[in-house]
Amino acid sequence: MDRMPVLFVGHGSPMNAIEDNPFSEYWKTLSDKIPHPKAILSVSAHWFTRGLRVCDAPLPSLIYDMYGFPDELYQVLYPVRGSHKYAHIAKGLIGEKIEIDNSWGIDHGTWSVLRRVYPDADIPVFQISVNASASAQEHYETGQKMRELRNEGVLIFGSGNIVHNLSRVNWNMSDGYAWAEDFDGYIKKSILAGNDDNVINYRRAGSSASHAFYLLDHYAPLLYVLGAKDESDSATVFNDACVLGSISMTGYLFS
Ligand code: ZN
Repeated sequence: MDRMPVLFVGHGSPMNAIEDNPFSEYWKTLSDKIPHPKAILSVSAHWFTRGLRVCDAPLPSLIYDMYGFPDELYQVLYPVRGSHKYAHIAKGLIGEKIEIDNSWGIDHGTWSVLRRVYPDADIPVFQISVNASASAQEHYETGQKMRELRNEGVLIFGSGNIVHNLSRVNWNMSDGYAWAEDFDGYIKKSILAGNDDNVINYRRAGSSASHAFYLLDHYAPLLYVLGAKDESDSATVFNDACVLGSISMTGYLFS
């Protein structure tokens, strides 16, 4: 079996689920670059929980966890099955500190992107949460424990944003503030140099790190993904741009 790549996508505005723009157009091409997965493990920024959780529901609910958007967005369907089997393999690899939790489901961090990548919704998807109590180092270590799933045909997919500061969003800006571009560039340079340590210890970026985000929810999915890659992978960077002043859309495919 092909060893699966690992994928991080900057999802940005929920409107990317339905708006055709260069970001969502690129997402449509990702399936050509990835062997057909048996299942997708999605770590979404939008399932931010105290402690680590995994959903093993055979038919996970679709969650419309965004507010104040056009009706069309709430009518999007992405009727995927879950994967009890792979959820339990993941749980076994991660260890005791992860609980089954089917109170959530497939949220917009997951479906806004996957409906573009796999529009047929024919690949089972299960979510693992972002543990709000964990440090950057611990997120990375959880990713390392998931790595073995790549040999089982599971695509490990992180959905977040490397720069995500909603309090600084400027709807009139098509690019990013200088600090946003600086932080995104620092992370890109570190990833391409194979320096995961700099990504974990992101405050080394300097003052830009204090504006990039206030919570780890959108950044942590990148750390899970980095943990799941290894030295034999090479990185492809895509959609590397900041938008609305304080959101980075940059994504990485490691294969
Ligand atoms: Zn988000």
